[in-house]
Amino acid sequence: MVKIKERCSFCGREKTETNVLIAGLDAHICDQCIAQAQHIIQEEMAAKAEKKLAGIKLQKPAEIKKYLDQYVIGQDEAKVVLAVAVYNHYKRITQKTRKEEDIEIEKSNIILVGETGTGKTLLARTIARLLRVPFCIADATVLTEAGYVGEDVESILSRLLQVADYNVTAAEKGIIFIDEIDKIARKGDNPSITRDVSGEGVQQALLKLLEGSVVNVPPQGGRKHPEQKFIQIDTTNILFIAGGAFNGIENIIASRIRTNIVGYTYDKKLKEIDKDNLLKYIAPSDLKKFGMIPEIVGRMPVITHLNPLHRETLLRILTEPKNALIRQYGRLFEMDGIELSFDRKVFEFIVDKSIEYKLGARGLRSILEGILTDAMFELPSQGEVKKLHVTLPYAEEKFSKSGISKLKVA
Ligand code: ADP
Repeated sequence: MVKIKERCSFCGREKTETNVLIAGLDAHICDQCIAQAQHIIQEEMAAKAEKKLAGIKLQKPAEIKKYLDQYVIGQDEAKVVLAVAVYNHYKRITQKTRKEEDIEIEKSNIILVGETGTGKTLLARTIARLLRVPFCIADATVLTEAGYVGEDVESILSRLLQVADYNVTAAEKGIIFIDEIDKIARKGDNPSITRDVSGEGVQQALLKLLEGSVVNVPPQGGRKHPEQKFIQIDTTNILFIAGGAFNGIENIIASRIRTNIVGYTYDKKLKEIDKDNLLKYIAPSDLKKFGMIPEIVGRMPVITHLNPLHRETLLRILTEPKNALIRQYGRLFEMDGIELSFDRKVFEFIVDKSIEYKLGARGLRSILEGILTDAMFELPSQGEVKKLHVTLPYAEEKFSKSGISKLKVA
């Protein structure tokens, strides 16, 4: 029998002319054809991403805010800033590249400053639902300088790439929310002998991403190692939104305001200042004083704040949003055929307890859970119960038995 020479079924090269010839069921493919095929796939993916973007109907900032209003109570300043930033981001990435001398629109990365539990992450998540570009949330607390225990900064891009189904072109137009950015502030003003690998070092590494550069990204995230294949991502068009509580920054703001207004307008100005919400007056210089390096602050030119949540706001959070807690629990009971209702006073009780125990908006869920756990345990097996109306005495009794009530009030 004559042995047929093995050759690439795509280009016809004989095995001896190739570096590698891979056999399939009824065909072969050589290394060069594989490389070429990969190139075609990349181009196709890029074209797909472009086409998807071109088909996007730009939501106007007012429409974006309206959407956010359904899920996030209050925080109007932050919503407006975010809506405009996202709108501009779309405009920038869908802008047709025209003549070279054309105006290049630079991105405006954002910093959201606000106490914990005031809705920073909620805003980011809600906006993500609306977006048609890849979006991911990264936690700054796990990042360390390359080579130290923790995650390299590039891992943020790995996540974005995963969300984009490894479509590099799409990822390069995405949005990244960096949570707890304040945790990578420089520790103390004095340069110390020990390296600050989770603070300033990370900021320096992050700066590279913010500035816009081509970064080697390990596709699976985690730590980089030499044998690993990298994917190159250009971060020029990625929009960064960072959030942080910046605990203690009020003192920095207060002392700046005090020194600024020394002079003849002192009394008048001082009266106008809302001392309960100093974050309103946050300025880039405060972030630098807090420990953010000037280059990072410079690369995040839009600063906005979230307001602390007052009693009225907490009451609204409990009942108003599209997926308000009360509605969520209502749905849970409904699935067992039980109609859940509350006395208005119960809502006030839940909010007051959350304030008393300093739990903020996050506490609302735990308190409500504490009140409803017994019912959620017992009622499903008592088929005859079709209604649960929660009165104040019922809520008080269940709450007093729950774990939260044992917490010490600070
Ligand atoms: P942060 O990121 O500022 O620490 P989160 O966004 O995680 O806070 O808020 C915690 C929870 O509190 C959210 O999941 C949400 O249920 C509730 N919450 C906080 N602020 C608001 C708000 N303004 N409107 C509606 N719910 C809110």
